[in-house]
Amino acid sequence: MARASDATGTSAADDLARDLRANGVRLIAGSLTDPAGVTRAKYVPVSRLGAFERSGMGVSPSWSVFCVDSGIAFTPTIGVTGDHRIRIDRRDVRVIDDGIGWAPGNLNDQAGTPVPLCPRSLLARAEQSAADRGLSARVGAELECTMVALDGGPATTDPWSPYGIRTSLDRSALLVDLAETAETAGLDVEQIHTEYGHDQLEVSLAPTTPVAAADAVILTRIVLGRVAARHGLRISFAPVPFDGAAGNGAHLHLSLADAAGPLFSGGDGPHGIRTAGGSAIAGVVEALPDLLAVYAGSVLSAARLRPGNWAGAAACWGLENREAAVRFVAATAGSPHGANAELKLIDPSANPYLAAAAFLGSALRGIDLGLDLPPEIPENPAQSDVATRPLPSDQRAALDAFEYSSVAAELLGPEVVEALVAVRRYELKTYGELTLADTTRALRLAWSC
Ligand code: GLU
Ligand code: MG
Repeated sequence: MARASDATGTSAADDLARDLRANGVRLIAGSLTDPAGVTRAKYVPVSRLGAFERSGMGVSPSWSVFCVDSGIAFTPTIGVTGDHRIRIDRRDVRVIDDGIGWAPGNLNDQAGTPVPLCPRSLLARAEQSAADRGLSARVGAELECTMVALDGGPATTDPWSPYGIRTSLDRSALLVDLAETAETAGLDVEQIHTEYGHDQLEVSLAPTTPVAAADAVILTRIVLGRVAARHGLRISFAPVPFDGAAGNGAHLHLSLADAAGPLFSGGDGPHGIRTAGGSAIAGVVEALPDLLAVYAGSVLSAARLRPGNWAGAAACWGLENREAAVRFVAATAGSPHGANAELKLIDPSANPYLAAAAFLGSALRGIDLGLDLPPEIPENPAQSDVATRPLPSDQRAALDAFEYSSVAAELLGPEVVEALVAVRRYELKTYGELTLADTTRALRLAWSC
């Protein structure tokens, strides 16, 4: 990262700014995704790229407690004084379209050090602590979302066929535009399809290092929003977009490897899972009740996270089990990236940096503690004889479990816990008594980019 006194960095930023300008870029957005899962941004003219990198752009500390609407959930430690900086790294800049470039931001203090509230730095630390243990981590993301009309209402009323060739070809112009814009933005899209829910789309991204994976989630949301707008639509990332509709998931796949190879294959455990891999899965499953507020903690999350929705509402794991919170994917010829653990219960109201940090952190914690892989649930957990630990059943219970959890404090730090609890309790107070129809109407576009 270039420093203020680093002449090389300064001229490198100026060179890049000139190249971007020649490519039509006029404004650079630096974004920050907050504990409520909402992505916000500041812009600079492209000529000021170097300043965005060296000094950052000022934001109030209240950015960390902005809520899903325009509310602010001030806490005893986050008020109206102080100043933070969004700083970007020129190497992260991607070209979107219409003169806009984008880079993910870190949240720093004025001296240039990431603050404890910075979700992206928190994930970078989790990535580093894996490396400190001799482990490399890869994360792959799936983004489910719902196409909606410009006024926020349903995009279509025609019958929907899940994964239908008709429902996808009806949107061929949008899908081709999506593939093209994603490629220009440097995204590694693996798959696109129309999903089960009415007007629902899914985009799957190739696995990469954890911070890069969370960055790619935000960039994909931006690209989806831009492309949809060109086709007279908007994109909802609400966990439940309409009362009665299928939910939107934000599943993350995690794989880990040490010098001897992958932890989830080549061993003596079930499906080839190595001892450390079993401990990683055990750590993730054990921490689910404490961390549900991170993964699926919004006022709309509990309506999605129910048995029968393939949302992974049961605190267990199982091979290719779509009702288990952790769906294990074994190393087969059909799985080119190898074995991995998919955490299905994450929804798009979650901050992807915090969700990935909690997922990876709880896996590392399981390894550190040498936890034993719990028994596999090979069938629908709702019909299994093996009891699974109950998950908090609603937002209030999830927040209660999270607020005083030592695991949450250990993995995320007390500052993030305080901010996340504040913004989610605000949601509970503001929307908790409304009908699902009214809450989905109010928050349908809250997590859109
Ligand atoms: N839409 C489901 C969810 O809310 C997931 C469906 C699937 O398995 O892809 O997570
Ligand atoms: Mg899906």
